[in-house]
Amino acid sequence: MNTDDKGIAQLLGGLPETPTASDYRIVAQKLLPYIHAHVPFMGEGHSLARLSFLTTIARHDLGLARLIEGHLDATQILREAQCPAGKDMLYAIWASGGPADTSQITQSDVTGRSTELNGSKPFCSGSDIVDRALVYIYPSEQIIEINLRTIDAGKRLVFDGGLWKSNAFSETHTWTVTFNDLPITQADYVGEPTWYFERPGFCLGALAPAACWAGGAIALVDSVRERTLKDGHAKAHLGAMAASAHSMQLMLKWGAEQIDADPTNQSGSMFPVALLVRHHIERGCTEILDRFGRTLGPRPFAFEADNARRIAELNLYIRQCHAERDLEELGAYLEEHSGFSP
Ligand SMILES: Cc1cc2nc3c(=O)[nH]c(=O)nc-3n(C[C@H](O)[C@H](O)[C@H](O)COP(=O)(O)OP(=O)(O)OC[C@H]3O[C@@H](n4cnc5c(N)ncnc54)[C@H](O)[C@@H]3O)c2cc1C
Repeated sequence: MNTDDKGIAQLLGGLPETPTASDYRIVAQKLLPYIHAHVPFMGEGHSLARLSFLTTIARHDLGLARLIEGHLDATQILREAQCPAGKDMLYAIWASGGPADTSQITQSDVTGRSTELNGSKPFCSGSDIVDRALVYIYPSEQIIEINLRTIDAGKRLVFDGGLWKSNAFSETHTWTVTFNDLPITQADYVGEPTWYFERPGFCLGALAPAACWAGGAIALVDSVRERTLKDGHAKAHLGAMAASAHSMQLMLKWGAEQIDADPTNQSGSMFPVALLVRHHIERGCTEILDRFGRTLGPRPFAFEADNARRIAELNLYIRQCHAERDLEELGAYLEEHSGFSP
């Protein structure tokens, strides 16, 4: 699959320059049959096609990519857990933790037979856009599937958009969701406790955000290439940006090959592989963001709606990497595994 794919191009062409949440929902819904028919799962021999699909979407629009990335992650998790995924349903995965996450499973009666979801979850992308969400509950170490289209959900979920202060990704509605006594049953449980973080697929999913970051950065390179560059400095920056974009794509290809060769992580090296790829791509995006500004000055930041938004969103999106915390983990792994040779 590549950016020339007519099917995707046509679907993405329906997205306005400044999409609203409703535009995102419409286009994401229209992409679902395409995904179902053409986008393979990770670790099944064609991982690169899944990552390239995300890069293609992100090259067009980072907000849409953020939503589609969540959908692909959630449906991959359901497949690995052998749980059916609704074919026409747009999914999200809400697994963010930290002090703002107070979500927990509580017993609603003394018999302990009925359970409910309570508390708040930050960083819920697509909160009132998606149909279903997989929610990770840290105290129980459990993934729960919730259906946002039920009457119960309508009454017992509160979406707080006021906490999100940035214009970047504002229309993805990455809001804080509060659950008020939302009834849940055993049928809503996905996998066993602790399964979510321990499953091999967790490493495979880690490459998907990087594929989106790369797409956002490549779009900035596209934008430079569309212009007539007046001086040698600009051309030098373009050369360096194109080199970065190329190596990001090669890193994704390498990561996908590693995953396809060892989808169940028998080697135990899939997480360091993902950390390595993510680091490289985060650095490549940072370089492109920097060089883009040095090439074109302030005008695109101030006067070009698409680039102003893309730059703000890419800057925010790459902060999803855990920076030196990830590098420390990678370094510790390398120290203990002298045989690991990327
Ligand atoms: C655009 C966007 C959309 C997202 N959508 C989703 C989603 O749909 N689902 C989902 O599960 N997650 C989503 N996330 C969240 C993501 O998964 C992480 O939870 C988020 O990036 C924060 O990661 P972290 O808590 O591990 O912080 P890290 O980056 O690992 O660490 C941040 C560090 O800074 C410290 N810190 C932060 N603030 C302060 C402060 N005020 N004072 C002192 N120390 C501080 C923290 O304690 C921590 O040590 C999204 C993130 C972004 C950027």
